[in-house]
Amino acid sequence: MTDGTVGDGDGLAERLKEYEGRPATAGGVGRDPVNAPMIRHWCEAMGDTNPAYRGPDAVAPPTMLQAWTMSGLSGHDGRPGRSGTYDELFALLDGAGYTSVVATDCEQEYLRPLRPGDEITFDSMIESVSGRKTTKLGTGYFVTTRMDIRAGGELAGTHRFRILKYAPAHRSPKTAEVPRGSSGTARTENAGAGSGRPRPVINRDNAGFWEGVERHRLLIQRCTDCGALRFPWLPGCGACGCPDWDTVASGGEGTVYSYVVMHHPPFPAFDPPYAVALIELAEGVRIVSNVVGVPYDEVRIGMPVRLAFQRYDEGLVLPVFRAAERAGARSGEGG
Ligand code: ZN
Repeated sequence: MTDGTVGDGDGLAERLKEYEGRPATAGGVGRDPVNAPMIRHWCEAMGDTNPAYRGPDAVAPPTMLQAWTMSGLSGHDGRPGRSGTYDELFALLDGAGYTSVVATDCEQEYLRPLRPGDEITFDSMIESVSGRKTTKLGTGYFVTTRMDIRAGGELAGTHRFRILKYAPAHRSPKTAEVPRGSSGTARTENAGAGSGRPRPVINRDNAGFWEGVERHRLLIQRCTDCGALRFPWLPGCGACGCPDWDTVASGGEGTVYSYVVMHHPPFPAFDPPYAVALIELAEGVRIVSNVVGVPYDEVRIGMPVRLAFQRYDEGLVLPVFRAAERAGARSGEGG
């Protein structure tokens, strides 16, 4: 109760300990038996060419253990055997202010190989809940869950995974109350954020770039030893390793090297669909930016573009690119 976290000293730790040993899943059944197509896809994705995973005597890669227990993209809703204990524990931690979660580590033990045709069943339990810990991310509790995986009723392996459920050290004022004694911090970070656009992360390695943007100049770093240009800004030269640099201002000419059109997920500060492009500047370096002033579905690879600076709100100017007219060939279409 002295450092801004909620729930310490009110018996939370004791209530959490009561979850140790309680089942999280009882009588879970794998969606599919162990099978060759899933093994093949896994090996392709992992780049694993071990011959033990192919052919008539194939076994499944041991590290696939958890894959046979997963419930698919639909998530865990309505999954048979799920007890609700895990949800209850999460709700307790959420209610106490430990609203964030990060997976920290996983351990597996393999007791018998799995082969195509093996029918999978599993049970899981909350094995332990730690005392309150403070990490770089924030303060919270480690929750360890153990899953026992069986094939034809015989224990084939154990999958133990640990998460940290925590109160973030740096909270966003949008998602949580501002911790005591730090009322100034969040306000500074969001000053002028009227457009809702995320702020750039400015550090000592890229501050010069953002100072340039304020003056409506797109500055490219140049190694003062070998002359190589580099973008985005970095502390040293990728070509020769020299840490010394100066800058050249881009002339603003470029072409669309590649692009994507963002449809999903929607984000409050953006209005999908919109084009995000990798622009190759005439100087030879590339920059990720938006192509503006042209419909998203007219953006094309190779399209000539020209640098512009767009103000999004009081505190944010960003370099963007507008479609440039091709020399001597003004098209009458569109717009
Ligand atoms: Zn260099």
